[in-house]
Amino acid sequence: MKVAVVGCTHAGTFAVKQILSDYKDVEVTVFERNEEISFLSCGIALYLGGQVKDPQGLFYSNPEELKKLGASIKTRHNVREIDPRNHTLEVENLATNELMIEHYDKLVMTTGSWPIVPNITGIKSEKVLLCKNWSHAQELFKRVPKVKRIAVIGAGYIGAELVEAYSLKGHEVSLIDAQTRVMPKYFDPAFTNRIEADFEANGVQLELGQSVQSFEEKNGELIIKTDKKAIAADLAILCIGFRPNTALLADKVEMTPNGAIITDDYMRSSDPDILAAGDSAAVHYNPTGKNAYIPLATNAVRQGILVGKNLKKPTMRYIGTQSTSGLSLYGTSICATGLTAESAKNQRIDAKQVIFEDNYRPEFMPSTTPILMSLVYDAGTRRILGGALMSKYDISQSANLLSLCIQNKNTIDDLAMVDMLFQPTFDRPFNYLNLLGQAAQAQAAKVETTKTLA
Ligand SMILES: Cc1cc2nc3c(=O)[nH]c(=O)nc-3n(C[C@H](O)[C@H](O)[C@H](O)COP(=O)(O)OP(=O)(O)OC[C@H]3O[C@@H](n4cnc5c(N)ncnc54)[C@H](O)[C@@H]3O)c2cc1C
Repeated sequence: MKVAVVGCTHAGTFAVKQILSDYKDVEVTVFERNEEISFLSCGIALYLGGQVKDPQGLFYSNPEELKKLGASIKTRHNVREIDPRNHTLEVENLATNELMIEHYDKLVMTTGSWPIVPNITGIKSEKVLLCKNWSHAQELFKRVPKVKRIAVIGAGYIGAELVEAYSLKGHEVSLIDAQTRVMPKYFDPAFTNRIEADFEANGVQLELGQSVQSFEEKNGELIIKTDKKAIAADLAILCIGFRPNTALLADKVEMTPNGAIITDDYMRSSDPDILAAGDSAAVHYNPTGKNAYIPLATNAVRQGILVGKNLKKPTMRYIGTQSTSGLSLYGTSICATGLTAESAKNQRIDAKQVIFEDNYRPEFMPSTTPILMSLVYDAGTRRILGGALMSKYDISQSANLLSLCIQNKNTIDDLAMVDMLFQPTFDRPFNYLNLLGQAAQAQAAKVETTKTLA
């Protein structure tokens, strides 16, 4: 069986390794535009901020490793066309411009995503940079240290991490976003108010609630005109989101409205010989039970493995995702899973939210640290739909536990009473997540009483 893998960052690398480990009778050929594979973009801000010393450490595989495992690796090869009817690809060798037609029995579409670049006047300026792959990273590493004023456009996770790194390095940083809050998709106002205060305390100029209208280069500087004002910078970095890289299969397989390939539980597209994984594919979002577009490495590596497992026949089901994610800003860990109260409302889900703050362990200990927590749950079934935590204490694994609760359809009552260890070094007799569940129970009981009285 001939397997063609198009794109080899996270989903592609994991798919190739799984395929080569599970089957001895397949011939795997990888086509990748870039020279390198498996670049961890999440390390860009960490390198800029000085936590990562050597950016070469941001690659966890390389073409030689995959070759040794048995794959034929064609880096600097761009797939230009896919003909599903004839099971062929048109491929260009970018080094020689030679074109070739390749046959496949199974096609693995791991072409990922590309930053959204809106059609705004002046956006093609050399002073407007992107932040996605290794070549963008190198450009950022080279050019940003030489300038003072950086404008980051897009206050999602990536923008927030870049802003933190640059503000700590002494740059003058503006953060521009059309939304009125930072990271509104992931966190409710109780969290974003504090995140914004932290940015401001670190000298970041927040330019929220305004959309960029144009870029203009004038006397060596970049003038970014929004619908409210003009912001001068030396460089701008555009990070307003990603779009699936799936034009090659447009009208050939089923896709979501934004172009993410829809797969079944076994990563098969509507064409049974084309499997998809990672940023090119939609995910099954467990809090709503619907397809969604959530471009995260966590999804890419899991789906990549599933492509391998299910290459020949349905073998291992995809269990979906809660979009669990986290970041660290100015020494504060901020993690989320599932729905926010705002996103639940936007999706017309009858959800309640409880916000609870407590120290993670007893006050008689030499130190303790407060944790801000949120739990979003279905008002009728009491099922947990989302959660968020924020603290100087490392709460990341608690976000993972809430993720499991959502995955397993646990209720606030399960969380309130689930067995968790107690030892004052770590927590109170009831762990802070138990207490969060109990706060939700108390809130729900109050709502019930009010209903009964009315
Ligand atoms: C700055 C940044 C920070 C991030 N931080 C995190 C994080 O902390 N945690 C997290 O979970 N996720 C994070 N992400 C998201 C994560 O990087 C992506 O979800 C992940 O890269 C998706 O992997 P992928 O393999 O599906 O696609 P991609 O990484 O987009 O790779 C697709 C590959 O396909 C190749 N390709 C595309 N079309 C063709 C073609 N026609 N022919 C040949 N090759 C082709 C591309 O060159 C590319 O190498 C971050 C992303 C960025 C940009």
